[in-house]
Amino acid sequence: MPLPDFLAALAHAPAAVHVLSDPDTLAIYACDETPKRCTPRAVAFPRAHAEVLELVRLANAYRIPLVARGAGSGNVGGALPAPDSVVVSFECMDAILEFDPDNRLMVVEAGVVTERIEQTARSRGLMYPPDPGSAPYCRIGGNLAMNAAGPRAVKYGTTRDYVLGLRAVTGAGAEIRTGCRTTKGVTGYDLTRLLVGSEGTLALITEATLRLIPAPRALITLRACYNSNDAALAACARVMTQPVIPCALEFMDRLSIEAVRSQLPDHGLPQGTQALLIIEADGETHDLPRQIAALTNTLTDSGLIELREAHDAEETRTLWRARKSLSHAVKQIAPLKINEDIVVPIMRLSEMVAFLEAQARGYQLPIVSFGHAGNGNLHVNLMVRPDDAREMARARACLLEIFEKTLALGGTLSGEHGIGTEKREFLPLEIAPPALDLMRGLKALFDPNGILNPGKLLPETG
Ligand SMILES: Cc1cc2nc3c(=O)[nH]c(=O)nc-3n(C[C@H](O)[C@H](O)[C@H](O)COP(=O)(O)OP(=O)(O)OC[C@H]3O[C@@H](n4cnc5c(N)ncnc54)[C@H](O)[C@@H]3O)c2cc1C
Repeated sequence: MPLPDFLAALAHAPAAVHVLSDPDTLAIYACDETPKRCTPRAVAFPRAHAEVLELVRLANAYRIPLVARGAGSGNVGGALPAPDSVVVSFECMDAILEFDPDNRLMVVEAGVVTERIEQTARSRGLMYPPDPGSAPYCRIGGNLAMNAAGPRAVKYGTTRDYVLGLRAVTGAGAEIRTGCRTTKGVTGYDLTRLLVGSEGTLALITEATLRLIPAPRALITLRACYNSNDAALAACARVMTQPVIPCALEFMDRLSIEAVRSQLPDHGLPQGTQALLIIEADGETHDLPRQIAALTNTLTDSGLIELREAHDAEETRTLWRARKSLSHAVKQIAPLKINEDIVVPIMRLSEMVAFLEAQARGYQLPIVSFGHAGNGNLHVNLMVRPDDAREMARARACLLEIFEKTLALGGTLSGEHGIGTEKREFLPLEIAPPALDLMRGLKALFDPNGILNPGKLLPETG
Protein backbone atom coordinates (compact mmCIF):
# COMPACT_ATOMS: atom_id res chain seq x y z
CA MET A 1 0.00 0.00 0.00
CA PRO A 2 1.63 3.27 -1.09
CA LEU A 3 1.30 5.07 2.24
CA PRO A 4 4.44 7.24 1.78
CA ASP A 5 3.04 8.50 -1.55
CA PHE A 6 -0.28 9.27 0.15
CA LEU A 7 1.46 11.17 2.97
CA ALA A 8 3.62 13.11 0.51
CA ALA A 9 0.56 14.03 -1.54
CA LEU A 10 -1.22 15.15 1.63
CA ALA A 11 1.72 17.33 2.66
CA HIS A 12 1.73 19.06 -0.73
CA ALA A 13 -2.03 19.37 -1.09
CA PRO A 14 -3.57 22.86 -1.15
CA ALA A 15 -5.18 22.11 2.23
CA ALA A 16 -2.15 20.46 3.85
CA VAL A 17 -3.19 18.13 6.67
CA HIS A 18 -1.14 17.69 9.84
CA VAL A 19 -0.13 14.00 10.10
CA LEU A 20 1.89 12.16 12.75
CA SER A 21 3.33 8.65 12.51
CA ASP A 22 5.78 8.42 15.41
CA PRO A 23 5.40 5.28 17.59
CA ASP A 24 4.12 7.18 20.67
CA THR A 25 1.31 8.81 18.73
CA LEU A 26 0.40 5.56 16.97
CA ALA A 27 0.23 3.79 20.36
CA ILE A 28 -2.24 6.37 21.73
CA TYR A 29 -4.60 5.98 18.76
CA ALA A 30 -4.35 2.16 18.55
CA CYS A 31 -7.36 1.46 20.78
CA ASP A 32 -10.79 2.47 21.97
CA GLU A 33 -12.70 1.26 25.05
CA THR A 34 -12.53 -2.38 23.92
CA PRO A 35 -9.47 -4.36 25.06
CA LYS A 36 -8.39 -4.76 21.43
CA ARG A 37 -5.50 -2.88 19.81
CA CYS A 38 -4.49 -2.30 16.19
CA THR A 39 -1.71 0.14 15.40
CA PRO A 40 -2.60 2.53 12.55
CA ARG A 41 -0.05 3.61 9.94
CA ALA A 42 -0.54 7.29 10.72
CA VAL A 43 -2.88 9.75 12.44
CA ALA A 44 -4.23 12.78 10.59
CA PHE A 45 -5.45 15.87 12.45
CA PRO A 46 -7.57 17.94 10.04
CA ARG A 47 -8.34 21.50 11.19
CA ALA A 48 -11.13 22.32 8.75
CA HIS A 49 -13.74 20.78 6.46
CA ALA A 50 -11.52 21.50 3.39
CA GLU A 51 -8.74 19.38 4.87
CA VAL A 52 -11.12 16.45 5.44
CA LEU A 53 -12.20 16.73 1.82
CA GLU A 54 -8.57 16.62 0.70
CA LEU A 55 -7.87 13.63 2.94
CA VAL A 56 -10.75 11.57 1.60
CA ARG A 57 -10.02 12.41 -2.02
CA LEU A 58 -6.38 11.39 -1.70
CA ALA A 59 -7.26 8.31 0.35
CA ASN A 60 -9.44 7.22 -2.56
CA ALA A 61 -6.67 7.81 -5.05
CA TYR A 62 -4.20 5.74 -2.99
CA ARG A 63 -6.80 3.30 -1.55
CA ILE A 64 -5.91 4.12 2.06
CA PRO A 65 -8.48 3.03 4.71
CA LEU A 66 -9.58 5.91 6.96
CA VAL A 67 -10.96 5.47 10.48
CA ALA A 68 -12.70 8.50 11.98
CA ARG A 69 -12.10 9.14 15.67
CA GLY A 70 -13.64 11.39 18.27
CA ALA A 71 -12.36 10.60 21.75
CA GLY A 72 -12.09 6.82 21.30
CA SER A 73 -14.60 6.22 24.11
CA GLY A 74 -16.79 3.87 22.08
CA ASN A 75 -17.14 0.33 23.43
CA VAL A 76 -17.73 -1.70 20.27
CA GLY A 77 -14.46 -1.18 18.36
CA GLY A 78 -15.93 1.54 16.09
CA ALA A 79 -12.86 3.76 16.31
CA LEU A 80 -10.42 0.86 16.46
CA PRO A 81 -7.97 1.31 13.55
CA ALA A 82 -8.34 -1.16 10.70
CA PRO A 83 -5.08 -2.84 9.57
CA ASP A 84 -2.92 -0.40 7.55
CA SER A 85 -5.36 2.44 8.15
CA VAL A 86 -4.91 6.13 8.82
CA VAL A 87 -6.88 7.45 11.79
CA VAL A 88 -8.67 10.76 11.20
CA SER A 89 -8.83 12.43 14.60
CA PHE A 90 -11.32 15.29 14.81
CA GLU A 91 -9.88 16.76 18.00
CA CYS A 92 -8.54 19.90 16.24
CA MET A 93 -11.97 20.67 14.72
CA ASP A 94 -13.52 21.79 17.99
CA ALA A 95 -15.10 25.16 17.21
CA ILE A 96 -18.65 26.18 18.04
CA LEU A 97 -19.27 27.92 14.73
CA GLU A 98 -22.60 29.51 15.62
CA PHE A 99 -24.85 29.76 18.67
CA ASP A 100 -28.26 31.20 17.83
CA PRO A 101 -30.37 31.12 21.03
CA ASP A 102 -33.32 32.87 19.37
CA ASN A 103 -33.63 30.15 16.74
CA ARG A 104 -32.59 27.55 19.32
CA LEU A 105 -29.76 26.06 17.31
CA MET A 106 -26.02 25.59 17.44
CA VAL A 107 -23.62 24.79 14.60
CA VAL A 108 -20.59 22.83 15.79
CA GLU A 109 -17.54 21.18 14.29
CA ALA A 110 -17.31 17.41 14.73
CA GLY A 111 -14.61 17.56 17.41
CA VAL A 112 -16.51 19.65 19.98
CA VAL A 113 -16.71 17.86 23.34
CA THR A 114 -20.36 17.05 24.09
CA GLU A 115 -20.44 18.59 27.56
CA ARG A 116 -19.36 21.96 26.11
CA ILE A 117 -22.43 21.99 23.86
CA GLU A 118 -24.70 21.50 26.86
CA GLN A 119 -22.83 24.10 28.95
CA THR A 120 -23.02 26.66 26.15
CA ALA A 121 -26.74 26.02 25.67
CA ARG A 122 -27.38 26.36 29.43
CA SER A 123 -25.64 29.77 29.48
CA ARG A 124 -28.73 31.09 27.63
CA GLY A 125 -31.41 29.01 29.37
CA LEU A 126 -31.39 26.29 26.71
CA MET A 127 -30.57 22.62 26.80
CA TYR A 128 -28.93 20.03 24.55
CA PRO A 129 -30.53 16.88 26.00
CA PRO A 130 -28.36 13.91 24.88
CA ASP A 131 -26.23 13.08 27.95
CA PRO A 132 -24.00 10.03 27.47
CA GLY A 133 -22.02 9.15 30.60
CA SER A 134 -18.87 10.00 28.62
CA ALA A 135 -20.07 13.58 27.87
CA PRO A 136 -17.10 15.27 29.66
CA TYR A 137 -14.72 13.90 27.01
CA CYS A 138 -16.54 12.27 24.07
CA ARG A 139 -17.01 14.37 20.92
CA ILE A 140 -20.15 15.25 19.01
CA GLY A 141 -18.89 13.53 15.81
CA GLY A 142 -18.61 10.26 17.75
CA ASN A 143 -22.06 10.84 19.30
CA LEU A 144 -23.58 11.42 15.87
CA ALA A 145 -21.89 8.37 14.39
CA MET A 146 -23.20 6.19 17.27
CA ASN A 147 -26.52 7.96 17.94
CA ALA A 148 -25.40 8.29 21.56
CA ALA A 149 -27.81 8.79 24.42
CA GLY A 150 -27.86 8.81 28.19
CA PRO A 151 -30.33 8.64 31.08
CA ARG A 152 -32.35 11.60 29.77
CA ALA A 153 -33.27 9.65 26.62
CA VAL A 154 -36.34 8.28 28.39
CA LYS A 155 -37.97 11.72 28.19
CA TYR A 156 -35.95 13.60 25.58
CA GLY A 157 -34.78 11.00 23.06
CA THR A 158 -31.35 10.39 21.53
CA THR A 159 -28.76 12.38 19.55
CA ARG A 160 -30.72 11.72 16.36
CA ASP A 161 -33.65 13.75 17.71
CA TYR A 162 -31.51 16.90 18.04
CA VAL A 163 -29.84 17.05 14.62
CA LEU A 164 -31.26 19.45 12.07
CA GLY A 165 -28.55 19.01 9.48
CA LEU A 166 -25.02 17.84 8.78
CA ARG A 167 -22.03 18.74 6.65
CA ALA A 168 -19.97 15.72 5.64
CA VAL A 169 -17.60 14.18 3.12
CA THR A 170 -18.74 10.84 1.71
CA GLY A 171 -16.35 7.94 1.24
CA ALA A 172 -16.35 8.80 -2.46
CA GLY A 173 -15.00 12.25 -1.61
CA ALA A 174 -18.22 14.19 -2.28
CA GLU A 175 -18.99 17.17 -0.09
CA ILE A 176 -22.59 17.03 1.14
CA ARG A 177 -24.95 19.07 3.25
CA THR A 178 -27.99 17.31 4.62
CA GLY A 179 -31.14 18.52 6.39
CA CYS A 180 -31.87 22.18 7.07
CA ARG A 181 -31.78 24.84 9.79
CA THR A 182 -35.48 24.72 10.55
CA THR A 183 -37.45 22.35 12.75
CA LYS A 184 -39.60 21.32 9.80
CA GLY A 185 -38.38 20.21 6.40
CA VAL A 186 -39.23 17.50 3.90
CA THR A 187 -37.03 17.84 0.88
CA GLY A 188 -35.78 14.56 -0.45
CA TYR A 189 -34.54 11.49 1.36
CA ASP A 190 -33.53 12.01 4.97
CA LEU A 191 -29.77 11.64 4.67
CA THR A 192 -29.30 13.20 8.10
CA ARG A 193 -31.01 10.29 9.80
CA LEU A 194 -29.08 7.87 7.63
CA LEU A 195 -25.70 9.30 8.61
CA VAL A 196 -26.58 9.43 12.31
CA GLY A 197 -25.67 5.98 13.62
CA SER A 198 -23.66 5.04 10.51
CA GLU A 199 -20.50 4.54 12.59
CA GLY A 200 -18.13 6.34 10.24
CA THR A 201 -18.76 3.85 7.43
CA LEU A 202 -20.56 6.13 4.95
CA ALA A 203 -19.16 9.62 5.43
CA LEU A 204 -16.94 11.71 7.67
CA ILE A 205 -19.13 14.23 9.48
CA THR A 206 -17.43 17.61 9.74
CA GLU A 207 -20.21 19.86 11.09
CA ALA A 208 -23.62 19.50 12.69
CA THR A 209 -26.51 21.89 13.16
CA LEU A 210 -28.07 20.94 16.48
CA ARG A 211 -31.55 21.68 17.81
CA LEU A 212 -31.80 23.06 21.34
CA ILE A 213 -34.80 23.22 23.66
CA PRO A 214 -35.66 25.36 26.70
CA ALA A 215 -33.96 24.07 29.83
CA PRO A 216 -36.30 22.91 32.59
CA ARG A 217 -36.05 25.13 35.66
CA ALA A 218 -36.19 22.43 38.31
CA LEU A 219 -35.14 18.83 38.79
CA ILE A 220 -35.92 16.30 41.47
CA THR A 221 -34.08 13.02 42.14
CA LEU A 222 -35.63 10.00 43.85
CA ARG A 223 -34.03 6.67 44.72
CA ALA A 224 -36.22 3.64 45.37
CA CYS A 225 -34.64 0.52 46.89
CA TYR A 226 -36.48 -2.83 46.53
CA ASN A 227 -36.20 -6.32 47.95
CA SER A 228 -36.06 -7.99 44.50
CA ASN A 229 -35.44 -7.38 40.80
CA ASP A 230 -39.10 -8.19 40.14
CA ALA A 231 -40.38 -5.57 42.59
CA ALA A 232 -38.11 -2.89 41.09
CA LEU A 233 -39.04 -3.75 37.51
CA ALA A 234 -42.75 -3.93 38.29
CA ALA A 235 -42.42 -0.39 39.69
CA CYS A 236 -40.52 0.65 36.55
CA ALA A 237 -43.38 -0.68 34.40
CA ARG A 238 -45.91 1.25 36.51
CA VAL A 239 -43.89 4.47 36.20
CA MET A 240 -43.80 4.18 32.43
CA THR A 241 -47.55 3.65 32.13
CA GLN A 242 -48.65 6.71 34.14
CA PRO A 243 -48.70 10.24 32.71
CA VAL A 244 -45.57 11.78 34.35
CA ILE A 245 -42.62 10.90 32.10
CA PRO A 246 -39.44 10.89 34.20
CA CYS A 247 -36.31 12.42 32.68
CA ALA A 248 -34.27 9.48 33.98
CA LEU A 249 -35.26 6.00 35.11
CA GLU A 250 -32.22 3.87 35.90
CA PHE A 251 -32.15 0.29 37.22
CA MET A 252 -29.51 -1.73 39.09
CA ASP A 253 -29.93 -5.48 39.59
CA ARG A 254 -28.96 -7.69 42.52
CA LEU A 255 -25.39 -8.36 41.35
CA SER A 256 -24.80 -4.66 40.62
CA ILE A 257 -25.82 -3.89 44.19
CA GLU A 258 -23.47 -6.62 45.49
CA ALA A 259 -20.60 -5.21 43.42
CA VAL A 260 -21.18 -1.70 44.77
CA ARG A 261 -21.54 -2.90 48.37
CA SER A 262 -18.19 -4.69 48.20
CA GLN A 263 -16.33 -1.79 46.56
CA LEU A 264 -17.90 1.33 48.00
CA PRO A 265 -17.76 1.64 51.80
CA ASP A 266 -20.12 4.66 51.83
CA HIS A 267 -22.65 3.19 49.38
CA GLY A 268 -25.53 4.29 51.63
CA LEU A 269 -27.86 1.47 50.54
CA PRO A 270 -30.29 0.15 53.16
CA GLN A 271 -30.14 -3.46 54.40
CA GLY A 272 -32.00 -5.94 52.22
CA THR A 273 -31.71 -3.93 49.00
CA GLN A 274 -31.63 -6.34 46.06
CA ALA A 275 -32.42 -3.88 43.27
CA LEU A 276 -32.96 -0.17 42.90
CA LEU A 277 -34.37 2.52 40.66
CA ILE A 278 -33.16 6.09 40.30
CA ILE A 279 -35.86 8.38 39.03
CA GLU A 280 -35.54 12.01 37.99
CA ALA A 281 -38.30 14.38 36.99
CA ASP A 282 -37.91 17.91 35.68
CA GLY A 283 -40.05 20.86 34.67
CA GLU A 284 -41.37 24.08 36.15
CA THR A 285 -40.72 24.48 39.88
CA HIS A 286 -44.42 24.83 40.74
CA ASP A 287 -45.21 21.55 38.94
CA LEU A 288 -42.64 19.35 40.67
CA PRO A 289 -44.71 18.55 43.81
CA ARG A 290 -47.43 17.09 41.55
CA GLN A 291 -44.85 14.98 39.71
CA ILE A 292 -43.25 13.80 42.97
CA ALA A 293 -46.63 12.78 44.39
CA ALA A 294 -47.52 10.82 41.25
CA LEU A 295 -44.14 9.08 41.14
CA THR A 296 -44.11 8.29 44.87
CA ASN A 297 -47.52 6.74 44.59
CA THR A 298 -46.41 4.63 41.63
CA LEU A 299 -43.12 3.53 43.18
CA THR A 300 -44.67 2.35 46.42
CA ASP A 301 -45.53 -1.32 46.90
CA SER A 302 -44.83 -4.12 49.33
CA GLY A 303 -41.33 -4.73 47.87
CA LEU A 304 -40.19 -1.15 48.50
CA ILE A 305 -37.59 -0.90 51.28
CA GLU A 306 -36.76 2.79 51.13
CA LEU A 307 -37.71 5.80 49.00
CA ARG A 308 -35.45 8.83 49.30
CA GLU A 309 -35.72 12.25 47.71
CA ALA A 310 -32.77 14.59 47.20
CA HIS A 311 -33.21 18.19 48.31
CA ASP A 312 -29.87 19.63 47.21
CA ALA A 313 -26.90 18.92 44.95
CA GLU A 314 -25.04 16.97 47.66
CA GLU A 315 -28.00 14.66 48.30
CA THR A 316 -28.46 14.19 44.54
CA ARG A 317 -24.82 13.07 44.28
CA THR A 318 -25.39 10.67 47.20
CA LEU A 319 -28.41 9.06 45.54
CA TRP A 320 -26.51 8.61 42.26
CA ARG A 321 -23.30 7.39 43.94
CA ALA A 322 -24.04 3.67 43.67
CA ARG A 323 -25.04 3.94 40.00
CA LYS A 324 -22.08 6.15 39.04
CA SER A 325 -19.56 3.89 40.76
CA LEU A 326 -20.81 0.77 38.97
CA SER A 327 -18.44 0.78 35.99
CA HIS A 328 -15.47 0.73 38.33
CA ALA A 329 -17.07 -1.70 40.82
CA VAL A 330 -17.88 -4.41 38.27
CA LYS A 331 -14.28 -4.42 37.02
CA GLN A 332 -13.32 -6.00 40.35
CA ILE A 333 -15.50 -9.08 39.64
CA ALA A 334 -13.38 -10.36 36.73
CA PRO A 335 -10.65 -8.92 34.50
CA LEU A 336 -12.86 -8.58 31.41
CA LYS A 337 -16.44 -7.47 30.95
CA ILE A 338 -18.27 -8.36 27.78
CA ASN A 339 -20.43 -5.29 27.78
CA GLU A 340 -23.71 -5.47 25.84
CA ASP A 341 -26.53 -2.94 25.67
CA ILE A 342 -29.66 -4.75 24.63
CA VAL A 343 -33.13 -3.17 24.62
CA VAL A 344 -36.48 -4.89 25.24
CA PRO A 345 -39.98 -3.47 25.53
CA ILE A 346 -40.37 -2.13 29.08
CA MET A 347 -43.14 -4.61 29.90
CA ARG A 348 -40.71 -7.48 29.12
CA LEU A 349 -37.81 -6.18 31.24
CA SER A 350 -38.69 -8.36 34.19
CA GLU A 351 -38.72 -11.47 32.00
CA MET A 352 -35.38 -10.46 30.46
CA VAL A 353 -33.68 -9.91 33.81
CA ALA A 354 -35.01 -13.27 35.12
CA PHE A 355 -33.64 -14.89 31.95
CA LEU A 356 -30.24 -13.26 32.54
CA GLU A 357 -30.15 -14.59 36.09
CA ALA A 358 -30.94 -18.08 34.79
CA GLN A 359 -28.20 -17.73 32.16
CA ALA A 360 -25.71 -16.70 34.86
CA ARG A 361 -26.56 -19.83 36.87
CA GLY A 362 -26.61 -22.14 33.85
CA TYR A 363 -23.34 -20.94 32.38
CA GLN A 364 -21.66 -20.27 35.75
CA LEU A 365 -20.81 -16.71 34.79
CA PRO A 366 -21.41 -13.53 36.78
CA ILE A 367 -23.80 -11.35 34.72
CA VAL A 368 -24.27 -7.81 36.01
CA SER A 369 -27.26 -5.93 34.56
CA PHE A 370 -28.12 -2.29 34.98
CA GLY A 371 -29.06 0.66 32.83
CA HIS A 372 -31.64 2.90 31.34
CA ALA A 373 -34.74 0.91 32.30
CA GLY A 374 -37.13 3.66 31.24
CA ASN A 375 -36.09 2.88 27.65
CA GLY A 376 -35.90 -0.87 28.28
CA ASN A 377 -32.14 -0.50 27.70
CA LEU A 378 -30.01 -2.85 29.81
CA HIS A 379 -26.24 -2.87 30.05
CA VAL A 380 -25.57 -6.58 30.37
CA ASN A 381 -22.03 -7.34 31.52
CA LEU A 382 -20.72 -10.89 31.27
CA MET A 383 -17.73 -10.98 33.62
CA VAL A 384 -15.01 -13.30 32.32
CA ARG A 385 -11.34 -14.28 32.56
CA PRO A 386 -9.98 -13.92 29.01
CA ASP A 387 -7.18 -16.45 29.59
CA ASP A 388 -9.71 -19.18 30.47
CA ALA A 389 -10.61 -20.63 27.06
CA ARG A 390 -13.49 -22.74 28.39
CA GLU A 391 -15.02 -19.80 30.21
CA MET A 392 -14.75 -17.67 27.06
CA ALA A 393 -16.48 -20.41 25.04
CA ARG A 394 -19.29 -20.54 27.64
CA ALA A 395 -19.61 -16.75 27.48
CA ARG A 396 -19.94 -16.87 23.71
CA ALA A 397 -22.69 -19.47 23.79
CA CYS A 398 -24.44 -17.57 26.57
CA LEU A 399 -24.24 -14.29 24.63
CA LEU A 400 -25.83 -15.79 21.54
CA GLU A 401 -28.77 -17.01 23.64
CA ILE A 402 -29.10 -13.57 25.26
CA PHE A 403 -29.33 -11.96 21.83
CA GLU A 404 -31.86 -14.54 20.65
CA LYS A 405 -34.00 -13.98 23.73
CA THR A 406 -33.77 -10.19 23.30
CA LEU A 407 -35.11 -10.46 19.76
CA ALA A 408 -37.77 -12.99 20.76
CA LEU A 409 -39.06 -10.47 23.29
CA GLY A 410 -39.37 -7.82 20.55
CA GLY A 411 -36.13 -6.02 21.41
CA THR A 412 -32.97 -4.90 19.62
CA LEU A 413 -29.30 -5.78 19.95
CA SER A 414 -28.00 -2.30 20.75
CA GLY A 415 -29.62 0.73 22.32
CA GLU A 416 -26.70 3.13 22.18
CA HIS A 417 -23.29 1.47 21.83
CA GLY A 418 -23.72 0.44 18.20
CA ILE A 419 -22.30 -2.54 16.31
CA GLY A 420 -18.63 -1.78 15.45
CA THR A 421 -16.44 -4.87 15.26
CA GLU A 422 -17.94 -6.50 18.35
CA LYS A 423 -21.48 -7.24 17.18
CA ARG A 424 -21.25 -7.28 13.40
CA GLU A 425 -21.43 -11.08 13.17
CA PHE A 426 -24.72 -10.96 15.16
CA LEU A 427 -26.37 -8.30 12.97
CA PRO A 428 -28.07 -10.90 10.69
CA LEU A 429 -29.95 -12.18 13.75
CA GLU A 430 -31.91 -8.92 13.73
CA ILE A 431 -31.67 -7.63 10.16
CA ALA A 432 -33.07 -9.83 7.40
CA PRO A 433 -31.20 -10.28 4.06
CA PRO A 434 -33.27 -7.79 2.00
CA ALA A 435 -32.56 -4.95 4.46
CA LEU A 436 -28.93 -6.01 4.85
CA ASP A 437 -28.54 -5.99 1.06
CA LEU A 438 -29.96 -2.46 0.93
CA MET A 439 -27.47 -1.40 3.59
CA ARG A 440 -24.63 -2.92 1.56
CA GLY A 441 -25.93 -1.06 -1.50
CA LEU A 442 -25.91 2.22 0.42
CA LYS A 443 -22.38 1.55 1.63
CA ALA A 444 -21.26 0.96 -1.97
CA LEU A 445 -22.94 4.20 -3.11
CA PHE A 446 -21.43 6.34 -0.38
CA ASP A 447 -18.04 4.63 -0.28
CA PRO A 448 -17.42 2.74 -3.56
CA ASN A 449 -13.80 1.91 -2.73
CA GLY A 450 -14.62 0.78 0.81
CA ILE A 451 -12.08 3.11 2.41
CA LEU A 452 -14.24 4.29 5.35
CA ASN A 453 -13.97 2.22 8.52
CA PRO A 454 -13.61 -1.19 6.83
CA GLY A 455 -14.52 -4.22 8.93
CA LYS A 456 -17.16 -2.35 10.99
CA LEU A 457 -20.93 -2.59 11.31
CA LEU A 458 -21.87 -4.69 8.24
CA PRO A 459 -21.01 -8.39 8.51
CA GLU A 460 -18.70 -10.14 6.04
CA THR A 461 -20.49 -11.41 2.96
CA GLY A 462 -20.56 -15.12 2.12
C1 LIG B 1 -17.46 5.68 30.83
C2 LIG B 1 -18.25 5.62 29.55
C3 LIG B 1 -19.60 5.93 29.58
C4 LIG B 1 -20.35 5.86 28.42
N1 LIG B 1 -21.67 6.17 28.48
C5 LIG B 1 -22.41 6.16 27.37
C6 LIG B 1 -23.78 6.51 27.42
O1 LIG B 1 -24.33 6.82 28.48
N2 LIG B 1 -24.48 6.51 26.26
C7 LIG B 1 -23.88 6.19 25.06
O2 LIG B 1 -24.56 6.24 24.03
N3 LIG B 1 -22.59 5.83 24.99
C8 LIG B 1 -21.84 5.81 26.10
N4 LIG B 1 -20.52 5.46 26.03
C9 LIG B 1 -19.93 5.06 24.74
C10 LIG B 1 -19.26 6.23 23.95
O3 LIG B 1 -18.83 7.25 24.83
C11 LIG B 1 -20.20 6.79 22.90
O4 LIG B 1 -20.40 5.82 21.88
C12 LIG B 1 -19.70 8.08 22.22
O5 LIG B 1 -20.69 8.53 21.33
C13 LIG B 1 -18.40 7.90 21.48
O6 LIG B 1 -17.88 9.19 21.20
P1 LIG B 1 -16.33 9.38 20.85
O7 LIG B 1 -16.10 10.80 20.56
O8 LIG B 1 -15.48 8.79 21.91
O9 LIG B 1 -16.25 8.52 19.52
P2 LIG B 1 -15.22 7.37 19.11
O10 LIG B 1 -15.25 6.26 20.10
O11 LIG B 1 -13.90 7.97 18.81
O12 LIG B 1 -15.89 6.89 17.75
C14 LIG B 1 -17.11 6.22 17.76
C15 LIG B 1 -17.53 5.94 16.32
O13 LIG B 1 -17.81 7.16 15.66
C16 LIG B 1 -17.06 7.27 14.47
N5 LIG B 1 -16.77 8.69 14.32
C17 LIG B 1 -16.16 9.51 15.20
N6 LIG B 1 -16.12 10.76 14.73
C18 LIG B 1 -16.71 10.74 13.52
C19 LIG B 1 -16.97 11.72 12.52
N7 LIG B 1 -16.62 12.99 12.68
N8 LIG B 1 -17.59 11.34 11.38
C20 LIG B 1 -17.96 10.05 11.19
N9 LIG B 1 -17.74 9.09 12.10
C21 LIG B 1 -17.13 9.43 13.25
C22 LIG B 1 -15.85 6.38 14.70
O14 LIG B 1 -15.29 5.94 13.48
C23 LIG B 1 -16.48 5.25 15.48
O15 LIG B 1 -17.10 4.34 14.61
C24 LIG B 1 -19.74 5.48 27.20
C25 LIG B 1 -18.38 5.18 27.16
C26 LIG B 1 -17.64 5.23 28.32
C27 LIG B 1 -16.20 4.90 28.26
